[in-house]
Amino acid sequence: MIKGRIHSYESCGTVDGPGLRFVLFMQGCPLRCLYCHNPDSWKMSDGKEVEVDEVVEEIKKYRSYMRFSGGGLTISGGEPLMQPKFVREVLQKCREENIHTAIDTSGIIDPEKVADVYDAVDMVLLDIKVFDEAIHKELVAQPWEMPLKTARYLAKIGKRVWLRHVLVPGITAKPELLHKLAQFAAELDNVEHVEILPFHKMGEYKWQEMGFKYQLGDTPSASRDEVEEAIGIFESYGLDVQAVE
Ligand code: SF4
Repeated sequence: MIKGRIHSYESCGTVDGPGLRFVLFMQGCPLRCLYCHNPDSWKMSDGKEVEVDEVVEEIKKYRSYMRFSGGGLTISGGEPLMQPKFVREVLQKCREENIHTAIDTSGIIDPEKVADVYDAVDMVLLDIKVFDEAIHKELVAQPWEMPLKTARYLAKIGKRVWLRHVLVPGITAKPELLHKLAQFAAELDNVEHVEILPFHKMGEYKWQEMGFKYQLGDTPSASRDEVEEAIGIFESYGLDVQAVE
């Protein structure tokens, strides 16, 4: 029996894919996004060890509302592709139960190494952090090539994608960066929707509790004008876009 480490789950998520979703948060993430709400999901050895069947049985309890709302399962994190065998098995078993599936990923794992996970999932919520190499490194402490490779790979295999982007004042909320990202997204045939996630400081207290320095303490939340401007930029490339608060 394959085991995995999870951070937590939420039985009735409304912002992680279509319809009402069972959201499974996996433990472990190689990124260090400055705006992360869940720094307690970073360390691979934390969280709780569970078996695939145990998780699938829990998910199945919510099948009727998932079906009724056009929802399903979303595996998020942390970074779900840090535990590809476990995640693939959960996805496969849910598919056998006719439960719609999605993963929410930063695309930081080489897509060719986790191709069987992408094969097993119905759609991908792909978080592109910023379309600039230097700012990407500063913002998430990882190089940016892999998320772009993942985006192109998912286009090549024709996987349904919703692209997600966190709008951070003074960092990602800049028209020139948003134009570059929107142009990139518009060139990918499989991006059917874009979600703008306005920055807020919900996770700040967790950083403090864990003894980490929260560097965005002086950064304001994204304003209504900044959100509207970002939506307008994505729309100008013919993309379907909305803000998710
Ligand atoms: S990818 Fe998600 S979990 Fe990982 S550091 Fe960034 S925001 Fe946090």
